[in-house]
Amino acid sequence: MYTNNKEDSLNFAKYKVGNSFLELVEGDITMQDTDAIVNAANKRLAPGGGVAGAIHRAAGPKLWEECKTLGGCETGEAKITKGYNLKAKYVIHTVGPVYSGSPEDPVNLEKCYKNSLELASKNNIKTIAFPSISTGAFGYPIKEASEIAIKAIASYLKDHPEIEVVRMVLYGRSDWEVYKETADSILS
Ligand code: ADP
Repeated sequence: MYTNNKEDSLNFAKYKVGNSFLELVEGDITMQDTDAIVNAANKRLAPGGGVAGAIHRAAGPKLWEECKTLGGCETGEAKITKGYNLKAKYVIHTVGPVYSGSPEDPVNLEKCYKNSLELASKNNIKTIAFPSISTGAFGYPIKEASEIAIKAIASYLKDHPEIEVVRMVLYGRSDWEVYKETADSILS
């Protein structure tokens, strides 16, 4: 079902889902060479800390100029911009739930993945990289978040072969190991 080998000495795993692939890599979202990268955005789509800060720094100030024209973004929704100085042609901005323990949290987190992937399909994006949405400043427990992420991505890929690769980019070895354990149990 999957291969597990080293790439650039960082962790890497790959799973076949339908005709597409789900990759788990340890790395930095801003460095990805996929058609699109996903931003773990805030509702204003503003630069800030974490993933959003890193993406805005790497893309350059034109990204914030474009984001200002979009009227913000609600939790669970997604919006698309150009990638400017990034390797990726597009950035898909999605706003994860701030973890509160309510039943809405998993619903909104699942919507982030689904709506981002739908936007990718509409824009002819074939390869897309996600960070672990909501598990930083927004406080979502990573094991629960990884189950929602992997299930949402796998369910989308089964019906949407136009997306060839979804790459989850995990920041650090321990986050990668959580996602790997989850993907092994759900997909193998
Ligand atoms: P949120 O506000 O949705 O929680 P954060 O940006 O605070 O978003 O964090 C989301 C996840 O992304 C966290 O697990 C964090 O460790 C990770 N992360 C932070 N910087 C990067 C980066 N440059 N590339 C990939 N993941 C990152």
